[in-house]
Amino acid sequence: MRLTAVGTSGSFPGPGSAASCYLLSWHAEGRDWQVALDLGSGALGALQAHVDPADLDAVVLSHLHPDHCLDMTGLYVHRVYDPRTFCGSGDSGEAAPVPGARSDAGTQPLAAVPQPPAPLPVWGPGGTEERIARAYHTEPGLSPDAETAHATDLRAAFDFRTLTDRAPFELGGARFEPFLVRHPVECYALRVTTPDGGVVVYSGDTDECDGLDAASAAADVLLCEAAFEEDRDTVRGVHLTGLRAGRTAQRAGVARLVLTHIPPWTREHIVRTEAESAYPGPIDVAAPGATWDIPNGRNPL
Ligand SMILES: [Zn+2]
Ligand SMILES: [Zn+2]
Repeated sequence: MRLTAVGTSGSFPGPGSAASCYLLSWHAEGRDWQVALDLGSGALGALQAHVDPADLDAVVLSHLHPDHCLDMTGLYVHRVYDPRTFCGSGDSGEAAPVPGARSDAGTQPLAAVPQPPAPLPVWGPGGTEERIARAYHTEPGLSPDAETAHATDLRAAFDFRTLTDRAPFELGGARFEPFLVRHPVECYALRVTTPDGGVVVYSGDTDECDGLDAASAAADVLLCEAAFEEDRDTVRGVHLTGLRAGRTAQRAGVARLVLTHIPPWTREHIVRTEAESAYPGPIDVAAPGATWDIPNGRNPL
């Protein structure tokens, strides 16, 4: 399994990165699988450098803060209005021909007509559908073309599924297990076990907690947020610092720590130095485009 950092900026996009998004790619069951972990503000653009959004197999949202989910609105447009598969509004009254059906003459097959993609599985906390609908939907108001406004129907594009603490699900031979972590809104760390037994853990947004420790146990790669600096950000229950990410990695016995979700106002060298003071293993600071192979560790670029 390959982990690709797509958006690594914390809390909002920065000058060099979109907000949170990571891509997991692997081969199993005779085909490639592509799953996005979070799709924060700005991430849909960066994601297209790595995968055609039409080829995603699922999205898993750690929580519903904008920097982790807001580009689901753009993905909805992509899923519904992609000209390769768009079938029109469906209200023209004309019946679409059936692909492969024969014409009246019975001799020439009709050309295949576009078919909308099957709804994309989207795992997230309770309320994900309502959250994305609120973010996407716009009332036509005084528009002179209000009659052409489409109803927002997220279920045309997405198959919403609710994350439950420590209730695993499987996809393409990989096991995804969510762990409730410590953040002001319901948020999950994700422990992903690859078909060959490797483990990559994504912290979501969290402070130190038992849930993150349990999720991270003996992981090959812990992709861990470090949004705060120890001497500057004293509020607890929101984010990790480099020190607290390092302590988590050390307690959990992970093989590699990757620091991410660093906002433009947090200094990378500070969080790295803090982490190094608590964790003696290899540490990377995630940047867009960086990849890691699981369970082998860093992919040589
Ligand atoms: Zn965040
Ligand atoms: Zn958050």
